[in-house]
Amino acid sequence: MDFDLFVIGGGSAGVRCARISAGHGARVAVAEERFWGGTCVNIGCVPKKLLVQAGEYGAWADDAAGFGWTIQKGPHDWAKLIAAKDREITRLEGIYRKLLSGAGATIFDGRAVLEDAHTVRIGDKRVTAEKIVIATGGHPVRPDIPGAELGIISDDAFYLKTLPRSVAIVGSGFIAVEFAGIFRALGAEVHLIYRQPQPLRGFDHDLRKGLADALQQQGIVLHPNCSPESVTADGASRLLTFGAGQTLATELVFFATGRRPSTRGLGLEDVGVALNAKDAIRVDDDLRSSVPNIYAIGDVTDRINLTPMATAEGHALADTLFGGRPRSVSLQNVPSAVFSTPPIATVGLTEEQACTMRPVDIYMTTFTPMRHNLSGRARRTLMKLVVDSETQKVVGAHMLGEDAPEIIQGIAIAVVMGATKADFDRTIGIHPTAAEEFVTLRTRTRVTGVAEAAE
Ligand code: FAD
Repeated sequence: MDFDLFVIGGGSAGVRCARISAGHGARVAVAEERFWGGTCVNIGCVPKKLLVQAGEYGAWADDAAGFGWTIQKGPHDWAKLIAAKDREITRLEGIYRKLLSGAGATIFDGRAVLEDAHTVRIGDKRVTAEKIVIATGGHPVRPDIPGAELGIISDDAFYLKTLPRSVAIVGSGFIAVEFAGIFRALGAEVHLIYRQPQPLRGFDHDLRKGLADALQQQGIVLHPNCSPESVTADGASRLLTFGAGQTLATELVFFATGRRPSTRGLGLEDVGVALNAKDAIRVDDDLRSSVPNIYAIGDVTDRINLTPMATAEGHALADTLFGGRPRSVSLQNVPSAVFSTPPIATVGLTEEQACTMRPVDIYMTTFTPMRHNLSGRARRTLMKLVVDSETQKVVGAHMLGEDAPEIIQGIAIAVVMGATKADFDRTIGIHPTAAEEFVTLRTRTRVTGVAEAAE
């Protein structure tokens, strides 16, 4: 065999797995067809957060007046922002590449496909490897409606030449609500069209309601319970038909309607790697596919599609295969954030999930953050703890509000450790902060039980 390990895909999962395996002394090769660092670095988490931050500066400039500043806010320069973002992404991509070569991995720039369970083809090169890891991630999908090609997907949103004056975003998952906030904060008219009654399916219902209110508050027009029907072009303008025959003329239609694992055309079926109905590679607890020497990590398995999960899986697999330290990654209590405006962060069970298994005590508070009593901005923070009524363990913590991702990361440690409500209560707060509310939630808001869930 030419290599001990061949990794297909140089994203969060693949780079970590290749780098750590090489560090353990394995002979490693890794192929990437597009850009090193994958989705997160190039067209995902990192550039997305930079765009969110661009919007925040505008709001701060407005809010500063309440604190005595006189700031004349000029127009926003989208092209300058994108150029700055591109420079940063190029820098990071270079770092990812260097990390791999520095670790001693052999790099292939190109698309890799499987010829058999031990042979990979990259262009006209063929190499063999004892073990193969598929880390090809996922890609956005457009809905199957007439004119769908006239809309953009998230990959395109990072490279728009100009800021659209108006955008219709179809979908209400995390990417949809994040971009709604970005475009709105930079001055566009934004419509959000989605099938659910509330945005962010799967998140706690109080957060979803709070987010819908916040989106409306900032002038985003919500169209719940609506499916897209068609898109037509009228010169540079787009006409989106949705719901019960409603139409919307807009400069840009943006489909944030879901992602699919990138498993097509890799030769997986030919070598016997089993996929599920959504094209994801089926893996066991050891991340092994149905072919014993082929593994899969990250979004291509479509379990928890987040960068820290992808890197954790890549690292655990490298330790297991080459580090003499077999281990797996828990899928429980994985914290996550949505960088909406304001952001959301969450760890553990939602009230709806928890109360089907056990009665739960709910502690919840909403308040105006201190800053906005002076800024005058209409903005609310919501914090919520879901506590097992019997054991008093905190099984879920949820927040909508400024700094939520920074705050919930710390709270997540307590939840992973199995902290009880009494542990939260005996922790002294840091004053004056929003975070201190999590340790001063004295009054139970309600008890939700198995019976309520059944209704
Ligand atoms: P990817 O990063 O997608 O990497 C797969 C790589 O494989 C790609 O670079 C691809 O080009 C390459 N590839 C595919 N097929 C082949 C082939 N045959 N040969 C060679 N190379 C191939 N997660 C968070 O945790 N926080 C966030 O804030 C966040 N924001 C996001 C925002 C957006 C807009 C998107 C789209 C995603 C976001 N995510 C976020 C999710 C995160 O980006 C993914 O979970 C993460 O990138 C998954 O890593 P991966 O290595 O599995 O896949």
